Amino acid sequence: MPAPSPTTTAGVLGIDIGGTKVALRIEPALPAGDPVDGSDATDGAGTPVEATFRWEPMASAAGDLDALARQVASLRSRWAGPISAVGLAMPATVDPTGLVTTWPGRPSWSGLALDGALRDLAPGAAVAYADDGDLAALAEAAAAGCPNLVYLGIGTGVGGGIVLDGRNCPRPGRGSAEIGHMVIAADGAPCTCGRRGCVQAVASGPATLRRAARHRSAATTGPGTNTDADADADAVSFPELRAQWLAGTDWAVRAVRESAAAAAVAVVGLTELLHPALAVIGGGFADGLTGFAAAVDEQARALGRPGHPPAPVRAAVLGGLSSLSGAILLARQQG
Ligand SMILES: [Zn+2]
Repeated sequence: MPAPSPTTTAGVLGIDIGGTKVALRIEPALPAGDPVDGSDATDGAGTPVEATFRWEPMASAAGDLDALARQVASLRSRWAGPISAVGLAMPATVDPTGLVTTWPGRPSWSGLALDGALRDLAPGAAVAYADDGDLAALAEAAAAGCPNLVYLGIGTGVGGGIVLDGRNCPRPGRGSAEIGHMVIAADGAPCTCGRRGCVQAVASGPATLRRAARHRSAATTGPGTNTDADADADAVSFPELRAQWLAGTDWAVRAVRESAAAAAVAVVGLTELLHPALAVIGGGFADGLTGFAAAVDEQARALGRPGHPPAPVRAAVLGGLSSLSGAILLARQQG
């Protein structure tokens, strides 16, 4: 690669790693409109470049890293300047020494030294990684212009993050905000983590669809016959749930409002502890259900105590791009 000329724009690389696909983007190291470098970022030299790709389903960690390196090289060939920092959004659990401990989405990554792998992608650049829910929260806070917020991402699981004074809480290296595994019912539904009563056990997309199937079965065959086996035989798809939720059909409304209630309990508890100015609800499942954030807001209001209203609840604005945007912000913080 030729040495960058002084007129090229320094970039930061954001990477959002998922269990099945990866999104990458290079943006100017200083955002458009920055008083120091705003002209560079808007004159065409600093136009963001991006790419997405899917992992090979059964690839090893080394194979995944080779694929990632090829994609990064391809993306860098479309960016004229140097890369000063890399930010990575990651769903896996990473220990304080930087080793991937568990990642159900890509089990072969267990034991991988993330720091070294990232440094190899962009030699000389500062590198950092963080939980994808934490980074989504950071990006939503920036988009909302709100330095104190909580974020719930509702999809296959329930993720989330907390931003206080414009920074993630807990701080990097002290674990991530596992809002989905807050216990909201001591003897509640079983969670995929092995415990009962987590927010995720009620509010995740799959949990909501399973409950919707049971409610629909009970509505058509009467109570007492709605076993899990019946529900499995007559599963509710997301498009069905969405259509019936919008149509106001009783079984769908009940299932979605129960999920919204679980999210509302989380918002109320987080408000008591952290006093955020805003609670933001995103994630693919919630994004697809128009009115879900409003349902959370309504039920959170009902749980407020006198003089202590819960944080207002709004729908996320960045949709599926929140973690990638957060990875870019994390990279910029390294500068
Ligand atoms: Zn759990």
